[in-house]
Amino acid sequence: MDETSLKVKTAIEAMIMASALCQKTGSDLTGKESILKSDRSPVTIADYGSQAIICKFIKEAFPRDTIVAEEDSTELRKPVHSKILDQVTYYVNEFVPGSSPEAVCSWIDFSSQVVTNRFWTLDPIDGTKGFLRGDQYAIALALIENGLTKLGILACPNLYVGKDQPHGKRGCLFLALRGKGSVQMDMDGGNRRSLSVSKVKDPSEATITESVEPDHADHLIHQRLAQKLNISKPPLPMDSQVKYGIVARGEATIYLRVPSPSEPNYKEKIWDHSAGSIIAEEAGGRVTDVLGHPLDFSCGIKMEKNHGIVVTNGILHDVVLEALKM
Ligand code: AMP
Ligand code: MG
Repeated sequence: MDETSLKVKTAIEAMIMASALCQKTGSDLTGKESILKSDRSPVTIADYGSQAIICKFIKEAFPRDTIVAEEDSTELRKPVHSKILDQVTYYVNEFVPGSSPEAVCSWIDFSSQVVTNRFWTLDPIDGTKGFLRGDQYAIALALIENGLTKLGILACPNLYVGKDQPHGKRGCLFLALRGKGSVQMDMDGGNRRSLSVSKVKDPSEATITESVEPDHADHLIHQRLAQKLNISKPPLPMDSQVKYGIVARGEATIYLRVPSPSEPNYKEKIWDHSAGSIIAEEAGGRVTDVLGHPLDFSCGIKMEKNHGIVVTNGILHDVVLEALKM
């Protein structure tokens, strides 16, 4: 097997297992216990379990690669959280039998905070608030080489498979390889089909997707932009990088993320955009920040050189950037 195929196979297997773990903890009441991190954001048993499994699989297949993931085991190892560690270990054991609490913590800590020439970046649960609400969330994994995303995978366990059937079957895997296009699969890795963005040319026919959480973006500016472009369809609120997936499959035309007035200088994190952006780009879309600059994944965990995010079907990109200069 060549290296690219091994990367894809390893990543998909790990993502399928991590998704099953998240869905299992989500359906058990106890699985929804969370710890509040120092930035007041929640981290659940599922975040830790997902990160432990994916880091273990990636590190075993590619021992020399760096992984930059969102969580670490510092809080989990504290005696006050021993019950949560026991629960994480219990769930990981369902997928990797014989795992000890120490092994689980050590897999979580395969993650480092250092961005190198070639590294994987992982958000074990993107949209934790959506996950806790029972709404959308994604597991996001990307491989970055010399600042450019080469591979991106999103597992979206709660996303409906058919873009025209919001009440139909759920569970989507999105995969993109640089220069090779984007595909959507069912949650078991089957039923692979290629994706392309919407062909909408008239801005008034566009559909905008944005965060559910009001503090994660400036929804008022999004609304003003919609008015300016005569967009009459209501926005599609979605948690997590699921938004990139629905632009890639042509369900939404524009994903807007203008920084929220409550945190105007917020710097986006690499694991929140690397997997999603390659999936939208390889489906024919365009991704920049609100000033039109390409996303830069090379300066560390925070995307210091970028301000907000704009994703479109490509055709409407310049129109949207121009309208944002209001
Ligand atoms: P979404 O579901 O698209 O709103 O994105 C969830 C992600 O938003 C989380 O993974 C956080 O890293 C990120 N986030 C947290 N606070 C902010 C903020 N003030 N502005 C933008 N993104 C944020
Ligand atoms: Mg996230």
